[in-house]
Amino acid sequence: MKSVGQKTLLAIMLAVMVLHAAVLSLLHQPAIASRFFTAAMPMLTAACFVCRSRRLPERERLSWWWLSAAIALWGSAQALEAFISHSTSASNLSADPADFLYLTAAFPLLMAISNTAETESIRGIFAVNLSQVLLAAGLTYVRLFHMSMSADEAATVMLKIYAAECALLAIAACMRLATWATLEERRRMRLMCLTLWIYLPIELSLDYATKRWNLQKGTLLDLLWGLPFLFAGWRALQMPMEDAAQPRTKSRGQKMGLLLQSLCPMLITVGVFALAASIWSQHFFLALGAMFLLLLIQGLHSGMVQLNYLEGRILLLDREQELKVANAELEQLSLLDPLTGVANRRQFTTALEAEWKRALRRQESMALLMVDVDFFKSVNDLHGHTYGDTCLVTIAHVLRDDLRRANDLVARYGGEEFVLLLPETDMAGAMIVAERLRQAVDAAQMENKASPFDQKVTVSIGVSTIQPWPTINVTALINSADQALYEAKQTGRNRICAQECQLSLPKTEIPAM
Ligand code: GH3
Ligand code: MG
Ligand code: MG
Repeated sequence: MKSVGQKTLLAIMLAVMVLHAAVLSLLHQPAIASRFFTAAMPMLTAACFVCRSRRLPERERLSWWWLSAAIALWGSAQALEAFISHSTSASNLSADPADFLYLTAAFPLLMAISNTAETESIRGIFAVNLSQVLLAAGLTYVRLFHMSMSADEAATVMLKIYAAECALLAIAACMRLATWATLEERRRMRLMCLTLWIYLPIELSLDYATKRWNLQKGTLLDLLWGLPFLFAGWRALQMPMEDAAQPRTKSRGQKMGLLLQSLCPMLITVGVFALAASIWSQHFFLALGAMFLLLLIQGLHSGMVQLNYLEGRILLLDREQELKVANAELEQLSLLDPLTGVANRRQFTTALEAEWKRALRRQESMALLMVDVDFFKSVNDLHGHTYGDTCLVTIAHVLRDDLRRANDLVARYGGEEFVLLLPETDMAGAMIVAERLRQAVDAAQMENKASPFDQKVTVSIGVSTIQPWPTINVTALINSADQALYEAKQTGRNRICAQECQLSLPKTEIPAM
């Protein structure tokens, strides 16, 4: 219990119970006054339900409102009965308007039991549901006020109807306990079950006592009517609110649960159908019309649910497609160097390992070219970092565009260093490619005032080739290209140095070529 309003509500409910007890013990003829107290309890419970619903996510609210409506109708029936019994002109009718309200109250209750938050959240479903309840009220009216039996007979029949109606609702609520979709739905169903199972024995025993011992209203036993409502109101305010919209986790019987859940909206339809069938013999066309209307309503209901499902599915497929595209783009991006747009080191490593395995299988040689920009610090220092970046982009594109084979790969290895992987290439071929690349960078005419080579940006290239062998690994090739590059730097820059990859194996293990 959290807010002051809720505490006040509960205090009022308890006060009503106490006052009710006082009135029953002190007044001489408390029957009519007692009914007003009995009417007040469900009204207060309905207020408790509304109070709870206001703090819940929107999709969970409607069921609480249906429940509040049902309980408020039951309370109104009690109040109306007090007025009717107070009025002297006793009616000749077999049933009175209070009976009508009692019976009609069952339908919003059935609505709360049969509907799930899932379907209720669909736009338009409320109107369809409301029309079912109104149709039910209309049929109840016809059924009640066209009964051809005496008032005494009708009273006995009504008691049986009430008991049967309450038992059926309690059973239906229990069934729904197996099909809850959200935590709040389960809490609500549990509360409805408990309340209905508390209410049922009270109703049965008080009816039995009335019949057996001609028990009149106005005894302390009237207090019993308030108990299920006091319990329901108190629980509604006490129950936790957290994770209300949390869906049911996957369980083994979930398919069965989903099937039952989908069938539950049929409960209200079956109820209204039974009512229409009960007036079939007396009001054939009316019953027929009601059944057609019911079919129409059910069709609309299914159509809306289906439409909602299809819309959701289309949305899901769209999202799936978007996700696939986004994933592919991300995957692509994760393999590219953001500045230059050529492959990054990650892609290079993967490609190198794959090529190593392939060359090993086919006993082919492969080449690795390591390219480093000469005096690049000075490019940054003298021309600025932005210009330095532009030079890196230009060099990357020059290297990429100058490669002729589809399987050749250029990657940014780090800073201002690039690597080129040339499959199926021996040393002679690799040297030709390296020289072509060196000249292409030279021809790009990028300015570097600190460069002794016509104040142009140049590159040094280390070349290494290898024919892979199972007992050596790929780092041997990288180290060898690195050493060749070091040599190119040491011997003056703007040049190519080569190194055959040295196998660190005893000579006897090297296969004969
Ligand atoms: P060397 O001829 O010996 O290679 O001399 P160098 O000046 O190029 O020396 P080094 O290779 O050590 O210098 C690398 C410089 O590259 C250092 C750093 O400022 C610059 N650099 C690294 N990455 C980037 C980058 O992404 N953009 C820019 N503008 N500069 C970078
Ligand atoms: Mg460097
Ligand atoms: Mg450098």
